[in-house]
Amino acid sequence: MRSPVHRYRDIERQATNLQLEPYVPPSPESPSAMWFIRDACGIVCGVITWFLVLYAEFVVLFVMLLPSKNVTYSLVNGMIFNSLAFLALASHLRAMCTDPGAVPKGNATKEFIESLQLKPGQVVYKCPKCCSIKPDRAHHCSVCKRCIRKMDHHCPWVNNCVGESNQKFFVLFTMYIALISLHALMMVVFHFLYCFEDDWTKCSTFSPPVTVILLILLCFEGLLFLIFTSVMFGTQVHSICTDETGIERLKGETATWDKKPCWESVKEAFGGSFSLSWFSPFSTLTCRRSPSEHVPVTPQGDIIEEDIIEIPLD
Ligand SMILES: [Zn+2]
Ligand SMILES: [Zn+2]
Repeated sequence: MRSPVHRYRDIERQATNLQLEPYVPPSPESPSAMWFIRDACGIVCGVITWFLVLYAEFVVLFVMLLPSKNVTYSLVNGMIFNSLAFLALASHLRAMCTDPGAVPKGNATKEFIESLQLKPGQVVYKCPKCCSIKPDRAHHCSVCKRCIRKMDHHCPWVNNCVGESNQKFFVLFTMYIALISLHALMMVVFHFLYCFEDDWTKCSTFSPPVTVILLILLCFEGLLFLIFTSVMFGTQVHSICTDETGIERLKGETATWDKKPCWESVKEAFGGSFSLSWFSPFSTLTCRRSPSEHVPVTPQGDIIEEDIIEIPLD
């Protein structure tokens, strides 16, 4: 933890060394342009996620439900499982292809800073990696190569940062994966009980050893993902409720922002008052950012990694 004296010294040092670039207008980014991170590790993890969901889908359908003699059981469980799996994959796509709240690249220009009309003595942060003026609570992600508003963490499983604008989809993704894992586990248990009582050859179209291997693999997958996504879901809900991102908690940053009450914070993350659209990965999130939030005026954050621009006192 650095003392206020160190902070001040750093501000002075950085301010004197700072070279502002000539004005280059930030490249216009269409809000409708698709967001996709070209990161090999993230793409592989994303594909694995889809493969694992499709594997579960295959075992549930072809090993457990279709060979079952109880049509009602198969229909009800098939509908529940397929609906949840569809919502999980849709949430995954939305979490992956939604801009998490990237700050425009390269806007730390002399003209842009002048246009902010900051008062003497006010301080703004410039990210030295993507040359942008960092809004309050934004952090630079080295994978996305951008500063992300209210960045929580970079998740390779959705090949994207979890930030201000896509946190809802990430929360839905973890919730639906936890639900399909729990549902699959329950079906596996029922299937084992049913098959032990019955003739093995009648309860599956596959041979008994193949059936057992497929079910045990699904069991492992379900347990692992149930634990992992439940913990992630709990952590995300806690982050939203306490109005503190994962990075802020890790860095032990003291809150200089006005912490919203839990319910307000949840409503902001999920895009308005409680409705069924909270559970839909297809709803659009409206931008609730006020223009003043683009202008950070108080010194905070990790000053080792950042350039700090101080408007000189006349
Ligand atoms: Zn940056
Ligand atoms: Zn990222």
